[in-house]
Amino acid sequence: MSVQISIEDYKFSDLIDIVDFKQLLESFYKATKIPNTLLDSGNKIISQFGLTKACSQFYKTNFESDLLKEFIDGKKPYSFCKNGLMYYSTPIVVENHHLATLILGEFLDKTPNKIFFTQQAEKFNYDKIKYLEAINSIPIIKKEQIESLMNCIVQMAKMLANNALLKFRETKLEDNLNKSTEEKSELKNILDFSPIGIAWSDEDGNIKYLNHQFIKLFGYTIDDIPTVQVWYEKAYPDIKYKKEVIEPWHKEVVISKQTGILVPDLEVTIRCKDGSERRVFVRVSWIGNKRLVNFNDITQHWKSELRNHIHDSMLEMVAKNTSLSDILNTIVKNMEYEDPGSFCSVLLLDKDEKRLILGAAPNLPDFYNKAVNGVKIAEGVGSCGSAAYLKTRVIADDISTHKYWQPYKSLALRAGLASCWSEPIMSSTGKLLGTFAIYHSKPSIPNSSDMERINFAANLASIAIENRNTRLELEHRAYFDYLTDLPNRRYFIEQAELELSRYHRYGGELSLIMFDIDHFKQINDKYGHSIGDLVLQNLAKISRLILRDVDLIGRIGGEEFAIILPQTNISEALNVAKRLQTAILNEKIIVNEEISFNFAASFGITSACKCTNIDDLLIQVDLALYKAKNSGRNQICISNKND
Ligand code: GH3
Ligand code: MG
Ligand code: MG
Repeated sequence: MSVQISIEDYKFSDLIDIVDFKQLLESFYKATKIPNTLLDSGNKIISQFGLTKACSQFYKTNFESDLLKEFIDGKKPYSFCKNGLMYYSTPIVVENHHLATLILGEFLDKTPNKIFFTQQAEKFNYDKIKYLEAINSIPIIKKEQIESLMNCIVQMAKMLANNALLKFRETKLEDNLNKSTEEKSELKNILDFSPIGIAWSDEDGNIKYLNHQFIKLFGYTIDDIPTVQVWYEKAYPDIKYKKEVIEPWHKEVVISKQTGILVPDLEVTIRCKDGSERRVFVRVSWIGNKRLVNFNDITQHWKSELRNHIHDSMLEMVAKNTSLSDILNTIVKNMEYEDPGSFCSVLLLDKDEKRLILGAAPNLPDFYNKAVNGVKIAEGVGSCGSAAYLKTRVIADDISTHKYWQPYKSLALRAGLASCWSEPIMSSTGKLLGTFAIYHSKPSIPNSSDMERINFAANLASIAIENRNTRLELEHRAYFDYLTDLPNRRYFIEQAELELSRYHRYGGELSLIMFDIDHFKQINDKYGHSIGDLVLQNLAKISRLILRDVDLIGRIGGEEFAIILPQTNISEALNVAKRLQTAILNEKIIVNEEISFNFAASFGITSACKCTNIDDLLIQVDLALYKAKNSGRNQICISNKND
């Protein structure tokens, strides 16, 4: 609280004991032989020591002349007399108010020029011998030395003036506190409605007063925190933090009562009565025996800084390709840190897009996470299933009574969860990606800052999930054919090489089938390219149905496919090819209501032997396929190793 005491109301002599200060200046003259003059703010002489003979006997001292004013006001730090002697001048300024001016001089910075001063004596008709004697008695001092001596005295004067001001202000505040009841209640009103939290305690640490803002900020009343010690215990429940930050600071505050040295503001996080946290600047001052404490709330600023930090570090994680689960865990933990006592979770849309699977919920019980993993997306399936279904935020402020939670309330109760607010996580194109949820152990209604937080978290999660999806899609595109979603030639050959090396290492059987649609060009020409595409897609579908999981099929050319069949001999491979051939022949392609057609394919088969590499194997199977084409198409040919 500031007390209306203005420096403007004070003169130098009000703040500084003139008798003492004069003694100081006199001692200074005796020690240095440098003459000094102190002027008040109106440039009247307060004291003058060591006036030189040159000055007292030959020149006139007039500090009121306009010429000297600029110099005295400090606009010029030093000046020369017309006679060649030097002065130094510095204003003593406190809180921008000019209190006094100190002048050092006259002095010389080098041995006097005898000819110059003799000429001066002649010009002004001085007694030459006496004048030169006076000039010779003037001290010779270096400019830098004068500057530091000057600073030393000016600093001392400022310090004394500042201390005096501080004392005046404290006394005035104490006076105010002891004023009549009417004035007192006016003062109390000001304190009560100050936008800054204010508390004071007596010397023994008993809290005597908390203003409205304090109670509003932290929720505690005097009954909750009768002493400073109880306040510390409640506001700083982390024992380590209390020991390492609060206690050393408290010691400084106690010492400051004696020394008067101001303790720097402390930026701290305070635990409020409702369990939330606030970030404040704490400032303490002593007024007599009362310890006055101000709490300046910077929570909003702190939170937005924190969020910027989370945002930046999440983007950094995204840029560094950190795994999605690590990024989501970081987001969740940061959100929980912002709202102590809350538990957060991210659920992700499953591949089938019908369920939600666990993304991150590091602080929810395992049994709860297991139960939630795979939850259906539908209205009435808790907050998350419903939020994902409705694509809108779902607030269950009290799980025990909320209609969406009826089937799950005992599960939530067992996990100690009483409220759940869930926000759908949407992609930049409006697609559902998952949900972000905040749980509390007591029924709770979100306020506007909670809404902001849940939005912020869902947005962050959306960036991370979308980025992961894009990356996976790019990876997929590099390995899979876009039309049939079968492995492309490069990926097929890579996988086939792996199978072949496994076969070389462990033995057994390995076969390869290659097939090609017959007269595919004609299909395209007759029915159009998109029908040709449909044939390729249907063929891929049929093949997937017929093949085992261990068989690997790839699209290795336009309408050419290959299948690697591990642990399969040539006659088993022949059976697979036959089944495929039949299924293909039976597949009817419907062009429109009137037109449909069937198609066929030719097959080549080969099996690996100890010496084959992938290139040889492909050449062999290609030859067999060539033979099937030449034998009239819709045929299956087995490679003859002697071909
Ligand atoms: P063959 O019985 O000798 O195999 O005759 P074909 O007509 O099937 O073979 P050809 O090599 O002459 O023609 C293959 C055709 O496949 C040519 C090409 O336009 C078509 N094709 C390749 N890729 C695609 C595709 O992705 N979609 C469609 N619709 N057609 C494709
Ligand atoms: Mg063909
Ligand atoms: Mg072909």
